Amino acid sequence: MRYNVAQLLKEQSGHTRQYTLREAIDALDPEIAPLSPLAGTVQLIRTADGIFVLGNLHTSLELTCARCLVPFALPLEFSLEEEFRPTIDIHTGATLPLTADDEVATRIDAHHEIDLSEVVRQGILLAIPPGPICRSKCAGLCAICGKNLNEGACDCKRDEIDPRFEKLKELLDKK
Ligand SMILES: [Zn+2]
Ligand SMILES: [Zn+2]
Repeated sequence: MRYNVAQLLKEQSGHTRQYTLREAIDALDPEIAPLSPLAGTVQLIRTADGIFVLGNLHTSLELTCARCLVPFALPLEFSLEEEFRPTIDIHTGATLPLTADDEVATRIDAHHEIDLSEVVRQGILLAIPPGPICRSKCAGLCAICGKNLNEGACDCKRDEIDPRFEKLKELLDKK
């Protein structure tokens, strides 16, 4: 996920390069379990201050369903929109001062290279839905016996109340 932008930095604002990306991301983050490589397009656009990265990327991840706890595959699409800024002046070779909003992840290094791995890592983590579920109608696990109800019903009495609501039931029964 590294791109050398030395030539693009010498060009005028608005000039672009387009790349097709296809790269394994197994080592990107311990929380990310990819089932397929990261793929898509990356457009690098020369701006007044640096290089704007526009990415349209997709992969698929193995996640654990929050309801039934079974692993499932989630196709994931996300976009990147980040401006990378040079640390070295391309014309003079002088070190450029960093501004307050320069992050390490979006610096163009001393070899005029952009490394997308950190912004990709953040983009994937942000794109994963909280409490992912394997299907919209996932029946989850029986709260009593723990059986995966997607595989069929169990014999537990369905009218049994969640122990946390027993106090509420008492209150309701009072009237
Ligand atoms: Zn599920
Ligand atoms: Zn049960």
